[in-house]
Amino acid sequence: MQAFAKVATHDLLRVAPPRRAIAAAAGLGYDGTMPDYIGTRAENAKILGADDPQPVTVLDAVGEVSVLLICDHASNRVPRRLRDLGLSADVLDRHIAWDVGAAALTRELAGRLGAPAVLAGYSRLVIDCNRQPGDPTSIPETSDDVGIPGNAGLSDGAAEARADEVFWPYHHAITRELARLWRHERPPILIAVHSFTPVMNGRPRPWQVGVLWNRDPRLAVPLLARLRRHPDLCVGDNEPYSGRELGYTIDTHAAAAGLPHVSIEVRQDLIAADEGVATWGALLGDALAPLLADPSLHRAELY
Ligand SMILES: [Zn+2]
Repeated sequence: MQAFAKVATHDLLRVAPPRRAIAAAAGLGYDGTMPDYIGTRAENAKILGADDPQPVTVLDAVGEVSVLLICDHASNRVPRRLRDLGLSADVLDRHIAWDVGAAALTRELAGRLGAPAVLAGYSRLVIDCNRQPGDPTSIPETSDDVGIPGNAGLSDGAAEARADEVFWPYHHAITRELARLWRHERPPILIAVHSFTPVMNGRPRPWQVGVLWNRDPRLAVPLLARLRRHPDLCVGDNEPYSGRELGYTIDTHAAAAGLPHVSIEVRQDLIAADEGVATWGALLGDALAPLLADPSLHRAELY
């Protein structure tokens, strides 16, 4: 039994084949910088099958603005081999699986701003792209009091396969897009798009939109001011979540490099339908565009 377990573990460790081998199989030279996966499935994937979509979607820029939009919780999809994690379709439609409306809003904003965008391809219940792998909420066993049967008692190998095939392709794509912008344009700005539920723990949330930030005020503070010009809007400053407590993707890709950044949260009921997406795309796009065009913002500064 022990020998069998060893073989199984060893096999799982080979989920990520050597980069040089991938490059050789693809007829490419290996220059030491090619990531293991950029929007492709590993040959010996454990999670993603041939009929599963790619783990990341990259929307190309239509303008020359040095801004990248990202959407960590864009999708409620679960790879076929994971059998819906043992959940019903109703549960997978709920906010615990994704940020309702956030992908559509990200696409709308990308079009309006002419910016590229990177969207995660699978549900946060498969692996949360906004958590450090290993964090207990990275592959949650429960979410909002709902047990996730497919996440109970995962082996290291199974958790690492999710990171290799779902989490890292998304983060590699963000790194690649930011690097391209930085090489060819000014230091880029990173904007994360999320959505939140109208009610949490029985309490209605008054905000329509929230601006999340930690130490770098360069984009968040003027964005808050512009949004607060709308007299009928309740704008959250680090509400309903605080950028001071949570922000793996933003902290890793922007804050650590000194790139300007912000996370924007829109209430889900406002962007659940196309009409709301267009309205909020216009409102946020109008608020952001003049700020993003300011050359003084496009500087790498550590806070
Ligand atoms: Zn989110």
